[in-house]
Order: sequence, then C-alpha cells, then structure tokens
Amino acid sequence: MIIVMKAGAEKSKAENIIEELEKKNLKPVPLFGIERTVIAVIGEERDLSMGHLEAMPGVEKVMRVVEPYKLASKQTHPEKTIIEVNGIKIGSEQLAIMSGPCSVESEEQMDQAAKALSEIGVKILRGGAFKPRTGPYAFQGLGTEGLDILRKTANKYSMATITEVLDIRHLDEICEKCDMLQIGARNMQNFQLLKEVGKRKNPVMLKRGMSATIDEFLLAAEYIISNGNENVILCERGIRTFEKKTRNTLALATVPLVKELSHLPIIVDPTHGTGKKSLIEAMSKAAIACGADGLMIEVHPNPEVAKSDAQQQLTPDEFKKLYKNLEAIAAAVNKKL
Ligand code: PEP
Ligand code: MN
Repeated sequence: MIIVMKAGAEKSKAENIIEELEKKNLKPVPLFGIERTVIAVIGEERDLSMGHLEAMPGVEKVMRVVEPYKLASKQTHPEKTIIEVNGIKIGSEQLAIMSGPCSVESEEQMDQAAKALSEIGVKILRGGAFKPRTGPYAFQGLGTEGLDILRKTANKYSMATITEVLDIRHLDEICEKCDMLQIGARNMQNFQLLKEVGKRKNPVMLKRGMSATIDEFLLAAEYIISNGNENVILCERGIRTFEKKTRNTLALATVPLVKELSHLPIIVDPTHGTGKKSLIEAMSKAAIACGADGLMIEVHPNPEVAKSDAQQQLTPDEFKKLYKNLEAIAAAVNKKL
C-alpha cells in the first residue's frame, strides 16, 4: 500500500500514521520529499481499512499494491485450480459443457433434453428448480419436485447436475440431491448465501452479477473460498449496459483478464449473455477461443412452450450443430470437447 500525504502536511501527521501502522505490525517506509511525504507500507495490506487511512488527517490518497482478494488471487496461488465433479475436470484441457433447460418443468421434458444432450456428449445437466424471476407471478420453479426430477434424469444418463440456490433454507436439500451449486447473477453479492455455500463441499458456480465489477466478482468468490469451499468456478454471463438489442452485454474480456488475476476456472454463459438464439454459436466459439474453461448453454426439447426464457433456449438439434462447430475452435486452443 502507498499512502500519499497532502502537500505541506506537517511531519507529525505522517508520524501519526507511521505509529498506527507499526501498532498493526506493518512496516511503514516513509519517503520525506520537499513538497510531500509518501509512506510505502510493507505487510498484509488487506487487513487495513483504506477508508480509515484516507480519513486520517493529512492524507491525500491511499493506493493498493495488491488485489483486495487473496485466496482467489493468482499472486498467492499461481497454479491453476482444477475442480473435479463426477470425474469431469473443470479447468483442465477438457472443456466443461453444462447444458439443459432453463427450468425443470416435467420428467418428460428433462428426459428428452438429457437423452439428446448425453448422446451429443454433454456430461453436466442443468435445470433450475428454484427460479429467480423478475416478477412474482412468473413460473417460480418446481422446487423439491424439480430437484428430484433433475437427479433422477441425470442418473439415468450418467450425468452430473447443477442447479441454482436461491435461499439458504434450501441448501441442505440441494447439496444432497445435486452435484454442483449455482449462485445466480442476482445473488452474487448475497453475502450470507456465499458464506453458507462456502461451508459446503459441493463445487459452486458463481455467476457474475449484472452490474458487478471484476473486483467485486472475485471478492464474491473470496467469500466462498474463505469460508472453506475452494471449489469455485466463475461464470461470465453478461452485464447490463445501455445496449437494448441484446439481453445483456457479454463481456468476454473478463475471461483472459480473470485468467491474469485468478487461478479459478471460468466458463461463459452465452445464453443469458445475449438472450438471442442467433448469437449463441458465435459467442460460444469466441468464449472458447479466448480461453474459457467451458460453457453453459440452455437447451429445451420444445423452447416455444418453455416456462422461462423461451426466447433464448436452443432445441437439441440446434445445439448439436453448434457443438459440432466448436470442435475446430477447441482444437485450435488445445482444448477438447
Ligand atoms: C440461470 O442460469 O438459470 C440464470 C437465472 O442465470 P443468471 O443468474 O445468469 O441470470
Ligand atoms: Mn434462464
């Protein structure tokens, strides 16, 4: 951390700060210039409150040297994390493809989706049982029944499962019945929920909040890891911008940037990222090309009658075509489908 004192601030102001830092077992190194003093701080700066230091008399600004997250950072954990779910290694050269309907609606719907997807080669089946809908009158998900259908269907086709956790009260049941937990965009900063999933063993896919910065995204991951669960997979799902032609703006630069900052795997959700069927293939290819560790794509056996997100779900045939077209891109970046 670097603390810059105001021009002309008395020496005693800098000395107060130095004393305060020393009390916290940090090593302040002051540089007394002609106009102003700069204090470099050696030690664990994340334990310091920037706001507190900035509020101290004589301080002009405080600058961080290291990222505010630690456990999610590459600085403290240089080797890539690989997360294993039922034999699938997320973060390895094998791409993790998670696919299935937006919501679990019925046994028949899930069976048709899972049958087609497993034949194509998808190993992780998605399906929301608890749905975060914008309005209270929209389909809210089948709850427990949905979790049971997801489990039963996945077992039939030897697939792993992922479903969204909306509420801490559902966590025991979801952890027991589902392999992976999904924290949705709307809950990325639900800190209590993050702490609770941090106490579980199930891998967690954390979606980026629709107005979250990359630092906030990684700090949300830090909440989970610092509570004991190191199995965090990040998911870029687009952010809200002024653009209206797509549901969200899919910020793909997040992928290589997160790879510079963190050891965690990151996948991309081009379905919610664009909200438009016609864009999903191009953005899937781009995601793989820029280093994503996998994709989440919504597929429904009959999208027109889907109870949620009908406009953006692919049919199994459309998905099959897309999947085939990903092979060459994957090979070009030394990844396998
Ligand atoms: C979902 O994947 O079902 C979902 C609701 O996505 P998001 O949280 O990204 O909106
Ligand atoms: Mn959806």
